[in-house]
Amino acid sequence: MIELVPYYPLAPALFVLAATYFALAMARHLRIFALARPSRPFDRPVERAASLLVYVFGQARMFRDRRAGLMHLAIFYGFLAITVGTASVFSFGLVEAIVTIPLDGALWRLVVLGQNLVSVAVLVAIAYAYGRRLVTHPTRLTFSRDALIILGLIAGVVATGLLSEAFRIAGEGDPYRGWAVVSGPLGGWLAGAAGAEALRAGFLASWWAHAVIVCTFLVYLPGSKHLHIATSFFNVTLRKLGPRGRLPMLELETAERFGVRTLTDLGWKDLLDGFTCTECGRCQAECPAWATGKPLNPKSFIMGIREMAVEAEAGLPLIPDGEAGRAVGLAAGLRPELLERPIVGAAIPYEAVWDCTTCGACVEACPVLIEHVDKIVDLRRQMVLEESRFPAELTAAFRNLESLGNPWGIPRAQRFDWTRDLPFAVPLAADVAAEGQFGELDVLYWVGCAGAFDERNRRVTRAVVACLDAAGVRFAVLGAEETCTGDPARRLGNEYVFQLLAQENIARLDRYGPPTILTACPHCFNTLANEYGQLGGHYRVVHHSQYLARLVREGRLRPAGGDGRRVAFHDPCYLSRYNGIESAPRAVVSAVPGVELVEMERHGRRTFCCGAGGGRMWMEEPAGQRVNEERTRQALASGADVVATACPFCLVMLRDGLAGAADGTDGMQALDLAEVLAGSLEGPGGVPSA
Ligand code: SF4
Ligand code: SF4
Repeated sequence: MIELVPYYPLAPALFVLAATYFALAMARHLRIFALARPSRPFDRPVERAASLLVYVFGQARMFRDRRAGLMHLAIFYGFLAITVGTASVFSFGLVEAIVTIPLDGALWRLVVLGQNLVSVAVLVAIAYAYGRRLVTHPTRLTFSRDALIILGLIAGVVATGLLSEAFRIAGEGDPYRGWAVVSGPLGGWLAGAAGAEALRAGFLASWWAHAVIVCTFLVYLPGSKHLHIATSFFNVTLRKLGPRGRLPMLELETAERFGVRTLTDLGWKDLLDGFTCTECGRCQAECPAWATGKPLNPKSFIMGIREMAVEAEAGLPLIPDGEAGRAVGLAAGLRPELLERPIVGAAIPYEAVWDCTTCGACVEACPVLIEHVDKIVDLRRQMVLEESRFPAELTAAFRNLESLGNPWGIPRAQRFDWTRDLPFAVPLAADVAAEGQFGELDVLYWVGCAGAFDERNRRVTRAVVACLDAAGVRFAVLGAEETCTGDPARRLGNEYVFQLLAQENIARLDRYGPPTILTACPHCFNTLANEYGQLGGHYRVVHHSQYLARLVREGRLRPAGGDGRRVAFHDPCYLSRYNGIESAPRAVVSAVPGVELVEMERHGRRTFCCGAGGGRMWMEEPAGQRVNEERTRQALASGADVVATACPFCLVMLRDGLAGAADGTDGMQALDLAEVLAGSLEGPGGVPSA
């Protein structure tokens, strides 16, 4: 046996130095955080711990791209396992001693086996990662020297760790050698191939290489774009909880600033998002704006925030203290524009801010739970409320919303016109209440602006009430008392108009005290159910897909006359992605005898936006291909006869997409699911054909 004692105090000392540098460099990053606005509190610890388990240790979002997910899983767990071995090295074997004691070494056997297996998996995964970045070039990944360096350092740590173990086993032997399934056989081969001096030299070289690479990694990481290795644990734990579709409240009375203009207007969680971006490009790959050639790229936006922050913090004093720290920084020669530079124009182009449909595909795709949409809306808020800077066509929409309670500017008196020609009476809430029978209603039907005014969607509204009537549901509508929920105003950044409309609606709803609000519009659903609570309005809200599915399930609606059509269901973003309602609309469509439900490639939570969300319904779309054309192309590719949906805006967008389809539509129709169902009912009466 050859004595191979390498535990010179120099190595741990080097490690302590590197770790100290790492801690100080990370602390430097905190300076910019100290200048940020407060973000959400550290509440709901159980849910936060569960998020950590699911999204970090479970890598839940990684496996949507299975190969990349496996690659990342190997690197992530390999990194954790190797840390144990490295800690043992730098602690003079202390960690090994501690782990060896319990269960008579059984635990250490598992550690040795795990490390060996995981080391191989990491090396394979890194080879695959290099292949992707240097050879196959998936479009969502941009070339990054930084990523190659980080991958190289991880591979170096793993390879030198294995090699030094093999030399040690070759020289000294090891009671756990049988569990070292890679370094053990390698050590056996080295023992036969090299003499004592060569083994000693090989061991020292690989052991020191391991130590130096680990220290280099610690020194390199804080300045790297791959800081997510350290920050993603925090970012996931401190994620936005509560309904995804609830935008942060803006206190119009007390806010010093409306929305976000500069870095210091951001919350610290927004900055943490920036420092956590892995540059994986999953958000970019899912974004309908980017896919159709718009300037908006959610990945570049988040990376831009980080770049602005890194640039700005270079001039900040070491220990910041709010305004005082900022003053010292400025006095120390920091250029004010680094902190005062507008985000729009630096991290994201002006046009891109308005390209966003707020569809949430980016947020849904992000493996480290970065929130793009809230930030984009905050940028809109600042431009709309403080600078009156927004696309010209929105002037009329804002004015109409504020003065007439709908984006089209149609008089409120016409809100009830859709009931004309129906063979049964639609009760008004005011009349029902006057008769003292409001408490006996099953639902208050919230028709929404599109359902009340848009000619195509009036047919959907009539189909909904035909179903309600056929099932004997006791319902009423608000008629001219209803006004826009404010969803488009809010998503377009006009929080003032949103709150104005919301308060009017809440006052009216609270006066009636509705049992349940039923709506066929996912945007109304989201705002009524998830956002009105911020202003004191708490209601039970159901979407018509859920309610109709229940009526069918309970046998109160009996669809009969299906005609064997293939129906593809287009999931509205605010229904499936934001509110998790996926099975109910499919249950309604599938309930019609003879209907064959088919799925588009992008469906459920991964649905592709129709292009109308985020107020884009009222905006021009000058750049690139139209989003609704792309979604229509996807619908046509499904080979269905009907593309069904459950949102008035999606319906209009799909109808227009079909009308303009250059290569023909093979007769495909766009229908709301209420129309699919109503058309199949046995004698509901008054159901208009689509
Ligand atoms: S919300 Fe939709 S449109 Fe907006 S950036 Fe994200 S993916 Fe793109
Ligand atoms: S924001 Fe999220 S999804 Fe987009 S590149 Fe960064 S880590 Fe990936």
